[in-house]
Amino acid sequence: MYDYIMIKYGDLILKGKNQHIFRRNINNQIAHKLYGFDIDIDFQHDLVFIKLKNEDPNEIIKKLDYISGLSSYSKVKACSFDLETISKHAIDIISEEIKEDTTFKIETKRADKRIPLTSLEISIKLSKIILRQASQLKVDVHHPEKTLHVEARQDQTYIYLDKIPGLGGFPTSIGGRGLLLLSGGIDSPVAGYLAMNTGLEIECIHFESTPLTPIESVQKVIDLTKKLSKYSSGSKIKLHLVPFKEIHEMLLNEVEESYLITIMRRMMYRIAEGIAKANNNKVIISGDSIGQVASQTIESLIAVQEPISTLIIRPLSTYDKSDIIKLARKINTLEISNKPFSDCCTVYVPKKPVIKPSIYRSGLIESKLNFDLLLKQAIKNTRSIMVKDRETINIIDKGFTVEEVFNGDFGNE
Ligand code: ATP
Ligand code: MG
Repeated sequence: MYDYIMIKYGDLILKGKNQHIFRRNINNQIAHKLYGFDIDIDFQHDLVFIKLKNEDPNEIIKKLDYISGLSSYSKVKACSFDLETISKHAIDIISEEIKEDTTFKIETKRADKRIPLTSLEISIKLSKIILRQASQLKVDVHHPEKTLHVEARQDQTYIYLDKIPGLGGFPTSIGGRGLLLLSGGIDSPVAGYLAMNTGLEIECIHFESTPLTPIESVQKVIDLTKKLSKYSSGSKIKLHLVPFKEIHEMLLNEVEESYLITIMRRMMYRIAEGIAKANNNKVIISGDSIGQVASQTIESLIAVQEPISTLIIRPLSTYDKSDIIKLARKINTLEISNKPFSDCCTVYVPKKPVIKPSIYRSGLIESKLNFDLLLKQAIKNTRSIMVKDRETINIIDKGFTVEEVFNGDFGNE
């Protein structure tokens, strides 16, 4: 029934000096994500038309749902400007898509000024014909549940019912690349998604303490990265797995309990900065949300970021947990995050962590630790893997530690 999918860019993408860069970026992504479909893509100034041949438009829309920077898309019928023909197609669309009583209006845009009727006159004439045949519709021009759009352009007239909202935001990767601290929890994948939605490509870093923590906790992080990779411009994300067990054990043995998480975080940030620099990641992204737990008070966040100078962004810092959960559901990470396996921050949790750690005291504790070499080794022994949307990586049956997994079959694949 439909001839095209019509895609509209977000407004911001069409403004300012960089618009051609934005458009090129997003067009490349559309072509990449729709690779393999039997379609033609026509990139125009403010729109993209996907000409459907044999494909199901809903399958294509499922792919568009992962592209940042798109404002909306619609399934469109095209014809010449003729009121009889337009109303016939409109009735076909309506009887397919609207089965129940629904309030409705017609919105006409007349870009082709050769047409002798005004937009309003076209809407009125069409609604008279359509309402006669679609008894489930009742006109409400102020708050309609459904709007039928008729756009009379120079070449053809386009008819469509819904504008399906896109992800909005900016095209992923126009802002450069950031390094996401990815735990197995609910928050950090959502932070990664939001960072991508504002134009950052991401790599992920995970601190793993196998066998202190189960290998399943690392599998979770791989599975989360795979979900996030759907949003990245190349449908793949690099994941750095940092061997953290030795540092973790040293901290468990030598740091007073109340400062354990603070010092652990400071070590993580030092390593993350090293990995970020080596991989051209301009910023570090974390899933912290202010006030959620003791380690996320303002004082804690200040104390843990003090050892490094790389900019840290925290997309969730002001978010409410219930909003984070909604987003986790939308991006399909919630179910994976809810699996029970601990990572290094949830195994052996201190009973009374300090709520307002001081930088001075953190420095004092660290001055008694010998950690430089351990951090260097952790960076050197970090394993980096490419996680792709279209490939499954399973490490659970391949060893109890990441080292075993990589030294076995997996590393040689
Ligand atoms: P999340 O749900 O993302 O785990 P959280 O609310 O449980 O967050 P914390 O466990 O205190 O919070 O962690 C705060 C942030 O620190 C995480 O969002 C993540 O960005 C980072 N982080 C924590 N543990 C790890 C880890 N093992 N590897 C990488 N990053 C981590
Ligand atoms: Mg956590």
